[in-house]
Amino acid sequence: MTGAIAIVGAGFSGAVVARELAEAGIASTVYDARDHVAGNAHTQRHDNGVMVHVYGPHIFHTNHERVWQYINRFGTMLPYNHRVKATSGGAVYSLPVNLHTINQFFDKTLTPAEAQEFIASQADSSIGTPVSFEDQAMKFVGRQLYEAFFKGYTQKQWGVSPTELPASILARLPVRFTYEDSYFNHPYQAIPENGYTPIVQAILDHPLIEVRLGVTVDPATISGAEHIFWSGPIDQWFSQSFGRLGYRTLDFEQEVMDGDYQGCPVMNYCDEDIAYTRITEHKHFAPWESHDATVIYREFSRLCGEEDVPYYPIRLVKEKEQLLQYIAAARAARGVTFLGRLGTYRYLDMDVTIKEALEVADEFLLCQKNGREMTSFVSDPMGT
Ligand code: UDP
Repeated sequence: MTGAIAIVGAGFSGAVVARELAEAGIASTVYDARDHVAGNAHTQRHDNGVMVHVYGPHIFHTNHERVWQYINRFGTMLPYNHRVKATSGGAVYSLPVNLHTINQFFDKTLTPAEAQEFIASQADSSIGTPVSFEDQAMKFVGRQLYEAFFKGYTQKQWGVSPTELPASILARLPVRFTYEDSYFNHPYQAIPENGYTPIVQAILDHPLIEVRLGVTVDPATISGAEHIFWSGPIDQWFSQSFGRLGYRTLDFEQEVMDGDYQGCPVMNYCDEDIAYTRITEHKHFAPWESHDATVIYREFSRLCGEEDVPYYPIRLVKEKEQLLQYIAAARAARGVTFLGRLGTYRYLDMDVTIKEALEVADEFLLCQKNGREMTSFVSDPMGT
């Protein structure tokens, strides 16, 4: 191991760093505990031909030109415009909250300007800078829409009251006063023609990259490496010495049948008395394909146990305090850089993950050139 560059995690973070280093002439070994690359973006065709997002829906969207150019080098990205529906109180609505949602929900025929005025009258204007998820919702959409679309879903997704969650989670979703119902605002939205796994395989396909799957890396045994890029959970690197950071994990109940189950890729279930948060129908992520059969996932969220796959960093007050301890320890550590959703314990989308991995590689190469020591983080781990 001595002298080698070790990269832990074969998701987008690890793959992109390995590739950038390889193209600069630096060899590395990429490890992953699982038997496949691409991390939670992993896709696999079901026997019936449907491309399944094995760890739940992954839609690529970005406004970063460099990231868009980068991913397109490694496979064909086909245009895909994500639209989400939501079932709430026995009716189906369009998400994110837009003019159609507002008019349908309140049984009105408002114009954009009227809707804006109407929602402003519903919103709680006494809230200054929203701190919690609930504040953010009450300030921007008011109690009724909050209770119909956000309260129950969020309680199920995060397992705590929205009063305890940061406003930044809701800030991911826009509210629109037009009929535009695209889930994301980004100019580039796409899904790889053949799924994400071949893209990550292509990124890793370089003579200077060795990929070792099914290998759980013990931080102690790779400490002799020249440098380590760690995209596993930050608390795992430190053997959870400040306690286990909280993550949410997901369980998927898969059902396979003929026909079209729900007519859209994702249907959210916002009522609290329905145990799952959403149903994903995978074939709708590949509208360029045609399948008679279908695969659906009912998605359940729960606290991540020791043996479970971590998906979402929780980042409540308790975790933030622990996180500060881990960050301080990480900053003091030498020869290791933390990156990615788990390595920096942040709710990152795929495009930001790629962007930051490119920045990590840039910085590492610069450090090598200038004889500087590589830092433990390149992005701010306390950022969102
Ligand atoms: N959310 C909600 N109702 C919905 C969809 C989302 O309350 O119908 C909230 C929920 O707290 C969720 C967050 O908004 O965790 C972010 O949603 P997003 O669709 O970005 O979640 P992801 O696809 O990353 O799980």
